[in-house]
Amino acid sequence: MTPPDAPPGVGAVLAIDLAAIVANWRTLSARHRGGPVAGVVKADAYGLGARQVAPALHKAGCRHFFVALLEEALLIRPLVPGALVGVLNGLLPGSEADFVAHDLTPVLGSLAEVDRWVAAGRQAVGRQATGQRAGRKLPGILHIDTGMARLGLDQRELATLQQDHARLGGIDLQYIMTHLVASELAGDPLNEQQRVRFQAACGALPPARRSLANSSGIFLGDGWDSDLARPGAALYGINPTPGAANPMRQAVRLTARVLQVRDVAAGESVGYNATWRASRPSRVATAALGYADGWHRSLSDRGTAYFDGRPVPLVGRVSMDLTTFDVTDHPTVGPGAWLEMIGPACTPDDVAASAGTNGYEVLTSLGRRFHRVYGTPVYGTPVYGAPVYGAG
Ligand SMILES: *Cc1c(COP(=O)(O)O)cnc(C)c1O
Repeated sequence: MTPPDAPPGVGAVLAIDLAAIVANWRTLSARHRGGPVAGVVKADAYGLGARQVAPALHKAGCRHFFVALLEEALLIRPLVPGALVGVLNGLLPGSEADFVAHDLTPVLGSLAEVDRWVAAGRQAVGRQATGQRAGRKLPGILHIDTGMARLGLDQRELATLQQDHARLGGIDLQYIMTHLVASELAGDPLNEQQRVRFQAACGALPPARRSLANSSGIFLGDGWDSDLARPGAALYGINPTPGAANPMRQAVRLTARVLQVRDVAAGESVGYNATWRASRPSRVATAALGYADGWHRSLSDRGTAYFDGRPVPLVGRVSMDLTTFDVTDHPTVGPGAWLEMIGPACTPDDVAASAGTNGYEVLTSLGRRFHRVYGTPVYGTPVYGAPVYGAG
């Protein structure tokens, strides 16, 4: 049976539940008492489509968005009118004019970026009635490094700025922010260390609103609340509290079509390099997705799909366009059946555990060849034909 909205030639269907993403944003907003909750939609909204996710969140009331790159910001800017669009990777030389023209907010991660943004403000046309080039303060976010050591002002640059507040004088400072290193590990002493460092850093800077928590940071406790939280992963259903029950709703379902089913005699091998051999007379189904679709090769001989709510073991190597499954115990699986690859029973975090990575990488790897459907599938109902989805 073909998913009702999938063209006949489609190999796999990726259904993205925008209502679940919005519900997750509301859950996080209720939880974060310090202030509003942004939507981090970098990397094409963690692979799920910034073009769809950003306006859905905006419609729900989200007024702060973060991306990594200028190009990502330009994509969503017209979709989220009036909202702050922050660019986490900062202000690359030469991009100042684009930031000004499109009302984008750079996350300034070094004194050089601060100085360049001030200079850009002097060049910008002011709002004075005379129409003269009077310059204006441009909105910026100041990024302080409290332990990540990737981006943000280091201790030396921070000290310089703390002694020379005037250097920020030309900037409309929206927030001072930092990024947590290990927030998914609630007991990690790094969390407290960063919280204390951030407080100290902000205390000696001009007064400004603060932004601290990512997804997991929102669950660390009131001490990690701030004027603006910046979750990404949890919006998309990744568990921000690993080891405990997932408070987020699943937002993704991936189903792949079975192309062929064949009998494999005991002792015969399946796939490249014959890494799997049938230990009994077996039936093997070949499904239409592979590592070119972000179905990681490290899932070879380890992954699990679901059919009728029951697990189906992945056997043999994952190849570029195809993956094979042992359906010996699933006699109703035939050509044209749909196997669930990601869903309530096999979440991105579950897939990640089998693949030796994290849910972030599973989502951001999801391929461009999938037929994408945006909407609100009803779990437990066989929307896409044969598979019946577990209650989660
Ligand atoms: C990606 C990112 C986030 C979002 O992190 P999640 O763990 O996905 O919630 C927040 N802040 C910064 C600086 C980031 O780079």
